[in-house]
Amino acid sequence: MNEHYPFINPPLPYPYNALEPYIDEKTMMLHHDRHLQTYVDNLNNTLKNYPQYQSLSLEQLLFHIDCLPKEIQDSVKNNAGGVFNHLLYFSTLNHIDQSDKLLGSILNTFGSFEEFEKQFTSAALSVFGSGYAWLVYDPYGNLTILTTKNQDTPIPLGFYPVLNLDVWEHAYYLKHYNKRADYIRDWFSLLKKNLSIS
Ligand code: MN
Repeated sequence: MNEHYPFINPPLPYPYNALEPYIDEKTMMLHHDRHLQTYVDNLNNTLKNYPQYQSLSLEQLLFHIDCLPKEIQDSVKNNAGGVFNHLLYFSTLNHIDQSDKLLGSILNTFGSFEEFEKQFTSAALSVFGSGYAWLVYDPYGNLTILTTKNQDTPIPLGFYPVLNLDVWEHAYYLKHYNKRADYIRDWFSLLKKNLSIS
């Protein structure tokens, strides 16, 4: 499912209110049903007349963006990025695969969870305007924090995404208003739950 064109917007894998009180039901509904849906629709429209690229996965489209026809590069970058970024964001808000292993890597890399939280929070606050903070594996297998603008992804740089935090205002404005730091703290509450940190 969702391996290639036509891409779909899969149902949120949990109820819209499942992340209360950290992320509110209305934000989740609008974010998933409207924002993500728009990226899915725009990506499908972009690829509609390009059958030669319709068998590529999101990751393949994003990794090979420079090989696509010039006239669709920006649209694929923004919309395939928008789909990839939101699918990762929504899924990891509620569940993390092999969470023991990830927690072990975080502790090995950053020394403590508090130090990781400090560095990741600082990165997420540093994004000017819209974008994401990321926890990725670099090409050598080391965990690294980085940020991207808009719907850019770390994929073309050869990084393997583990977690991302959407810091576009649509992700938090209804509940947290302009207070991105409060939203980041609430996002960390969910992450700690998913990593079984009390
Ligand atoms: Mn978003």
